[in-house]
Amino acid sequence: MKVTIVGAGSAGLSAGIIFRGLFDADVTVLERANEGEAPGLGVALLPFALDELGRLLKNPYRPPQRAPGPISSAGLGPHADTFFAIDRVMRVFAGQSNGGEVIERTRTQGIQYAGVKRAALVDMLTGAARSAGVKIEYGADISEARVHGEREGSDLLIGADGAGSVVRSTFAAQFHPVAEDAKSRFAWLDLEGRIEQFTFGYMYVAGRGLIRVSAYPHSKTESSAIVTHSMGLTKFFDGEGMTEGEGFISDQGLRAINEVFSACLGGRKLGGRSRWRRFRATHCQRAAFDNVALLGDAHATLFYETGWGTSAAIQEASVLGQTMLKGRSLQEGLEIFDRKSTEIAQGAIAATLKAMRQIDGQAAKFYQLGPEKFLALKTA
Ligand SMILES: Cc1cc2nc3c(=O)[nH]c(=O)nc-3n(C[C@H](O)[C@H](O)[C@H](O)COP(=O)(O)OP(=O)(O)OC[C@H]3O[C@@H](n4cnc5c(N)ncnc54)[C@H](O)[C@@H]3O)c2cc1C
Repeated sequence: MKVTIVGAGSAGLSAGIIFRGLFDADVTVLERANEGEAPGLGVALLPFALDELGRLLKNPYRPPQRAPGPISSAGLGPHADTFFAIDRVMRVFAGQSNGGEVIERTRTQGIQYAGVKRAALVDMLTGAARSAGVKIEYGADISEARVHGEREGSDLLIGADGAGSVVRSTFAAQFHPVAEDAKSRFAWLDLEGRIEQFTFGYMYVAGRGLIRVSAYPHSKTESSAIVTHSMGLTKFFDGEGMTEGEGFISDQGLRAINEVFSACLGGRKLGGRSRWRRFRATHCQRAAFDNVALLGDAHATLFYETGWGTSAAIQEASVLGQTMLKGRSLQEGLEIFDRKSTEIAQGAIAATLKAMRQIDGQAAKFYQLGPEKFLALKTA
């Protein structure tokens, strides 16, 4: 079987390893970026994703023996140290940026997340894919014309090319993508040093709106932070000197963000290079047709605050592999994958749209309730 995969992120590399391990397929992954250019800071993974990673990092890949598989990070072997077990007690704070009191509460969450640097995760999967015999072509920015050519020359074409998927747009008439844009904007930044737990902060800037931070550790020494501001702050953050060449947040812009959160992040500074971006939630009515399948963000782009996107991408790759087992033909397997994947994604898409709309409406809620009651809602 000849399998061509567009995109060497978590979804594409996982699928490559799985198709080599289960079917000894001839697998080529086409990636736009150059090797070692994986963007992004850290991501938090769910326990089932660690479990699946344990299998992906072993050569040859073998599927879980029972469903659902045993959940543990024991299978990660020498890679276990790259993952940071995030404390379940999370810090949540709220206040007003004009000098009012900042209130802090804690909340314990049931799920044990593990933080990992996205580049480290992609490196690990790249190494495992190569050992499994996957061919990876870097610097290959796939156009619509090439998508058609690759589909004709392959038994199976997999679009694992992320939120702006060209495979999805090439076959929009078959996948029926639907998109909704957030009104708020976000920036993905580093937070100095290590923190132990998720830290969520909500600060109201008088007369302007709400700015929030979600910070989490992604290694023993480093942390990531997503800063989101409500629409009312757009003019302020686009003001004179707040951004520089190509729209990146300037030092002045970073200082303004740090001032807002100075009382809440234990003196740690937010830094790094990011633009303000508006999240677009795209999801497709179908996950596969004929000999083409979509995986990960290309199929359904999950909101960053849900903390599921990478875990879901890895899970979808595993579901695709498993639906091809049991002597099914490619066609039968893809039909089952289409149904299963669409069904699994439904809950995640509903959670994405709910979280996105909730965040868009948080400034009004905060204004109406004040920090104390708002925080009580968040930690209930
Ligand atoms: C701010 C932020 C925070 C997040 N935090 C978390 C988190 O804590 N936990 C979590 O689970 N998820 C998180 N996510 C989501 C997560 O990053 C994605 O869901 C995940 O990366 C999806 O994996 P993927 O392989 O489908 O796509 P991607 O990781 O986007 O990989 C797609 C690959 O395809 C390549 N590509 C794109 N177009 C082409 C083309 N035309 N030709 C060739 N190659 C192409 C890209 O270069 C890329 O390497 C976050 C996302 C954001 C934006």
